[in-house]
Amino acid sequence: MRRFVDLHTHSTASDGTLAPAGVIARADAAQLAAVALTDHDTTAGLADVRKAAANFPELTFVPGVEVSARFTGGTMHILGLGVDENAPDLRAVLATFIDARTERNPKIIARLQALGVGIDMDDVLAAAEQFEPARSRVIGRVHIAEALRTKGYVGSISEAFERYLGDGKPAYVDKERLEPREVIEAIRSSGATPVLAHPVHLGLGDGEELERYVAQLAERGLTAIEAYHSEHTDVQTRRFLDIAAELGLAVTGGSDFHGSAKPTVDIGRPKVPLAAMTGPLAELVAGGQ
Ligand code: AMP
Ligand code: ZN
Ligand code: FE
Ligand code: FE
Repeated sequence: MRRFVDLHTHSTASDGTLAPAGVIARADAAQLAAVALTDHDTTAGLADVRKAAANFPELTFVPGVEVSARFTGGTMHILGLGVDENAPDLRAVLATFIDARTERNPKIIARLQALGVGIDMDDVLAAAEQFEPARSRVIGRVHIAEALRTKGYVGSISEAFERYLGDGKPAYVDKERLEPREVIEAIRSSGATPVLAHPVHLGLGDGEELERYVAQLAERGLTAIEAYHSEHTDVQTRRFLDIAAELGLAVTGGSDFHGSAKPTVDIGRPKVPLAAMTGPLAELVAGGQ
């Protein structure tokens, strides 16, 4: 009986280095009971995983997506778990994000060039091709970081963020975002459960201020919180479990696996007990279908 799940992973459909089928194979090798693919702004990897999932009868697959929302002072990401990728409202929202990235990436590259860094869009696309093949790929900062690494400007993807691409760094360009309520509504309209991802990244700490804010999100339709995440301490995880219980939110968790683009994070880490999943998420990971 498999007892652990990972409901937050990325593939080459966005900025992970493993193809969707590779992510699910790795989740099976890690003996997980369930895995969700949650690429940034795209559901393009889900069809490939569904096809591969037939090879892994002991693993339940949960289709997902990760969407950024407007938030000052920190980063807000909302996961949609159990998503129907054909739902028209969600498709329309994701399409606008891809268009916005098409405008944003050249602006980042122009800033790098102004700083004397000699890379162009072709270098970025070539760098993205170093990752496993993808049917379609959302190009973003991780691919620009990989181009900087390939060209010898930095030693690692994380150094590229520290020196150039991170929030507030010299080549940073803001991303088009929707209000949290709009993201939550688009996710709900697709039949998915909206989850506040990695609450630590909001920058509100893990005390009263965070709890008040999460309560506001719950009023706007949020129904779950990612209590377990590779960047949470055990104390923070317990705190988020308490907040979930107090606010009546369901609980989920995952690694935020990106393959070698995030070398310190492996699939299935931290260990997220299947039994800790509550509400609609318990149904999603139950499998047996
Ligand atoms: P984008 O959606 O293009 O703005 O890129 C966001 C991606 O960049 C996410 O996958 C993050 O995991 C990644 N990212 C953000 N900050 C860092 C960092 N300091 N080091 C490595 N990856 C990062
Ligand atoms: Zn990512
Ligand atoms: Fe995220
Ligand atoms: Fe993520």
